[in-house]
Amino acid sequence: MNTIDKFNEHIMHTYGRYPLVMEKGEDRCCTDENGKQYIDFGSGIGVNSLGYCDDKWVEAVCAQVKSVQHTSNYYYTRVQADFAEELCGITGYSKIFFGNSGAEANECAIKIARKYSFDKYGKGRHNIITLVNSFHGRTLATLSATGQEVFHNYFFPFVEGFINVEANNIDDLKAKLDDTVCAVMMEYVQGEGGVIALDKAFVDAVYELCGAKDVLVIADEVQTGVGRTGKFLAGENYGKSADITTLAKGLAGGIPIGACLTNEKCGDVLVPGTHGSTFGGNPIACAGGLAVLERVGSDGFLDDVRVKGDYIKSRLEACGEVESVTGMGLMIGVKLKTKTAGDVSREAFENGLLLLTAKEKVRLLPPLTITREEIDRGLDILIKILEK
Ligand SMILES: *Cc1c(COP(=O)(O)O)cnc(C)c1O
Repeated sequence: MNTIDKFNEHIMHTYGRYPLVMEKGEDRCCTDENGKQYIDFGSGIGVNSLGYCDDKWVEAVCAQVKSVQHTSNYYYTRVQADFAEELCGITGYSKIFFGNSGAEANECAIKIARKYSFDKYGKGRHNIITLVNSFHGRTLATLSATGQEVFHNYFFPFVEGFINVEANNIDDLKAKLDDTVCAVMMEYVQGEGGVIALDKAFVDAVYELCGAKDVLVIADEVQTGVGRTGKFLAGENYGKSADITTLAKGLAGGIPIGACLTNEKCGDVLVPGTHGSTFGGNPIACAGGLAVLERVGSDGFLDDVRVKGDYIKSRLEACGEVESVTGMGLMIGVKLKTKTAGDVSREAFENGLLLLTAKEKVRLLPPLTITREEIDRGLDILIKILEK
């Protein structure tokens, strides 16, 4: 039986997959089992931040596999300590909890916010404001947090205590930020919601209103974090640092990881017995993460992400079929005039270019290490399709 038949036979049908059986990746390209090459403008899905099989990353990960691959969190590993120290250093946060995915990092943030408030103010202050069109994950709590009605089906009852506010609507925020609220959770650039950056005035208002009421700000930087927007954290583009920031996708360069980072204010909320994870802080993931931080933190790397993002944006804006280009850095949404994102993505696939979509837009999340030459090769394919 071939690979796709085996999937159909044994794997739950939860994804609309393209008929690509990936065999090997190198730099920003991958090859399927028939030897056909694709340029990857999606990094998997925002994950392969250094592209495929980066030399130093491979070296770090393999060295770790050969020493300790896992130990229980009842013990310590040096690599988890080193990674936490580096991640705190680069972000300015003081404490981290490691999990294995974005949804788990957000679950942790939700638990911290509720317990922070319970410890200080007692019961009844458990609501969390999230934004319309947000995306926070697929577990029951993070689905409940996700501000899109299409996700609130089938799995009743959902987790209580999430209130949706319209993104960029300060009046709506003011009206709903009452004494039952312990946190506001948001993506600075909504990813799945269509690659839409929040207005600076709205972000300012969130911080001002939350600061005045001791309501925590949670930044879901699962997609925007780790250099994606041209700063290590997207919050830096707004001059803001949330009380809690969650990271995942690109953090370990392709190995499952999630991280919930807190400032001094809520670093001691979770105590023994209140949270945990078998795999969280896995040594291999931490070794991969260290290799990512070393590269993303190197001189000029993030400037280069911004320059490459601006270049892609300018080439796309010059294309007649393009209505608008949104996003920041190498997180880019492309609204089209007449074609659908799905059709363009399928045609690109046939022509050896992997794209993502978000709502009605084509979405680009290329590896942060992509070269100008690879960008041009991918854009030539994309623009040719758009201009047909
Ligand atoms: C992808 C994503 C998640 C969910 O991450 P998983 O690793 O799939 O659980 C949560 N929030 C945002 C903003 C994301 O983009």
